[in-house]
Amino acid sequence: MIKPDASTQPNLTEAEATTWSVEDSAKLYGVRDWGAGYFDLNDKGEVVVKAPIAGQSERVHVAIPEVIEGMRERGLEMPAILRIENLLDDRIKSLNEAFARAIARTKYQNHYRGVFPIKVNQQAHVIDEIASFGRDYHHGLEAGSKAELIIALAKLEDNDSVIVCNGYKDSEFIELGLNARKLGIKVFFVVETPTEVPVIIERARALKVDPLIGVRIRTSTKVDGHWAGDSGDQSIFGVSSGGLMKVIDTLKDADMLHCLQLLHCHIGSQIPNIRNIRMGVMEACRYYTGLLEAGAPMGYLDLGGGLAVDYEGTRTNSTHSMNYQLDEYCVNVVETVIDSLRSSGAAHPVLITESGRATVSYASVLLFNILDVRDHRPSPLPDNLQDTLSFKADSDAPDALKNLWWVAQNLSLDNFQESYNDAIYYRDALREDFLRGQVGLPIRALADNIALEVFDKVAAICAKVERVPEELKHLPELLSDTYYGNFSLFQSLPDMWAIDQILPVMPVHRLTEAPTRNAVIADITCDCDGKIDHFSINGSIQKTLPMHEFDHESDYHLGVFLVGAYQETLGDLHNLFGDTNVVSISVKADGTFEFAKEMHGDSISDVLSYVEYDPKALAEQFRRRAEKAVKNGTISAIERREIMSAFYESLDGYTYYEQD
Ligand SMILES: *Cc1c(COP(=O)(O)O)cnc(C)c1O
Repeated sequence: MIKPDASTQPNLTEAEATTWSVEDSAKLYGVRDWGAGYFDLNDKGEVVVKAPIAGQSERVHVAIPEVIEGMRERGLEMPAILRIENLLDDRIKSLNEAFARAIARTKYQNHYRGVFPIKVNQQAHVIDEIASFGRDYHHGLEAGSKAELIIALAKLEDNDSVIVCNGYKDSEFIELGLNARKLGIKVFFVVETPTEVPVIIERARALKVDPLIGVRIRTSTKVDGHWAGDSGDQSIFGVSSGGLMKVIDTLKDADMLHCLQLLHCHIGSQIPNIRNIRMGVMEACRYYTGLLEAGAPMGYLDLGGGLAVDYEGTRTNSTHSMNYQLDEYCVNVVETVIDSLRSSGAAHPVLITESGRATVSYASVLLFNILDVRDHRPSPLPDNLQDTLSFKADSDAPDALKNLWWVAQNLSLDNFQESYNDAIYYRDALREDFLRGQVGLPIRALADNIALEVFDKVAAICAKVERVPEELKHLPELLSDTYYGNFSLFQSLPDMWAIDQILPVMPVHRLTEAPTRNAVIADITCDCDGKIDHFSINGSIQKTLPMHEFDHESDYHLGVFLVGAYQETLGDLHNLFGDTNVVSISVKADGTFEFAKEMHGDSISDVLSYVEYDPKALAEQFRRRAEKAVKNGTISAIERREIMSAFYESLDGYTYYEQD
């Protein structure tokens, strides 16, 4: 065990540091709070996946470092997405079984049909797994575009599952769906705007098939959380109450009101507060009754997505958390439908939900290695500084430097706040002198270094005193290190950049050791937004992550968890970092796991062609330059061959940092 230097970890007393255990790590990083029973730590201080196995209650534990080792042996380097098929399966099972329990308990007179919104993770392996495992539950798919409908039509083999089409639909989209109706596939066109209805009517008549029509309403229910501003009347989606009347009239006039069978409402994504969900369901039921009264047969109530994920692990109604559990969600939904429909005497509809993030978040983990660290700590001062600065009468060091040195030497519990202010004063005076050319770079560097030493000592004192002065509270953040990670935030964690998403981040090994550093994580792009500086630590949001000491001799691997929803699909090619490697593992009852699927990430050639370069033409242009150099006698023909083969190798290589 590394003996931590207490001065560098302001949140850790020395006693805590030396008696550090795996339990302390579990608590610090909150793995059992956000892990939903799927992630934990083993005695060796490694993060394990607790994989549910069909037909057995005991879970199988797989250590993530073991998977990383297996990936390396197969030539799949970091960064990589690890998908765990068992977790995806278990989420589908849990969702369907929780609804089944709620339905049994409340004596609801119909069944549940889940659909997975493809936009949340369109990756073929993910959709394959949802379609095949979900078959037992007749789990369907939601499509928001022609491309997604094509996926849904090909992948679902079960006519008892539902395909819900949202989004704006042209006549080609509608024809695709109508042809599927001829095959007996339950495709619902959810009308987003009244103008779609005449197109549906026209195409249906031409193809002589009855469509299944749904209508998406714009509820006035407001939700808490990130999407609060887009909910209610401000929502850009759905038909207003006036528009709904128009839809009914148009269908009636075409003698097709019998096709209107589904009401759709999606009040928002990641709804942290269960009360909002109840309100939304109540409002949807009122519309549902209204449509029945207007003469539509109905039969399906689709309540959209919104089931949250507790990324923070705090079980609160804050944006990245949730104040309810899955069972509670299902019971609330079913009960609210029963209560809201009671007075009208309406038959209970088939209940549909479109849970996206709650289905796929857990199954993916982003893994990456640390490449380097910018340690904030002062470097050791030269031994003879004492002589040169303070004691020698003829020392020509600037007074400000001597004073700064004096402050550093005389810092104590009694004067730490004053010392902090003095250090800033003298350091800044020397920086001024540097700007004016009165002192050189060595003095400037020395001044920064001594000041840093003072700040470090002050931070250590602050960690021990009862009341920390207000102006010193931010000191731990200022004194954080930067750990450089081998990943691109823009490619792999886009929501962290776009919407300040909190995702669980932690080392996947060394968790028997006390983390003695506090760090911000920077990615490999050269963009100052490419950093992670919000973490859920010990149940609260912190700007730095407790980390272990890094040395270049051994690997240090981190995991970002719960990244299966949206992150894999919204990423971009910032700085031309491409798709990462991906492996899907399937954990078996005997404790082994197999690499069920693997995909190598983009090569440099791949990403270059995405932005319309022709890698062959680039190589040819470079070859001509090299040939010119041979002609000039700058390089030999043999050197040209070596230079060109290195060039070709780069084109084939991974876009991320490759370990030699
Ligand atoms: C995005 C979306 C969903 C998924 O929402 P989650 O919060 O991820 O469950 C469901 N339905 C529709 C219509 C959507 O646009």
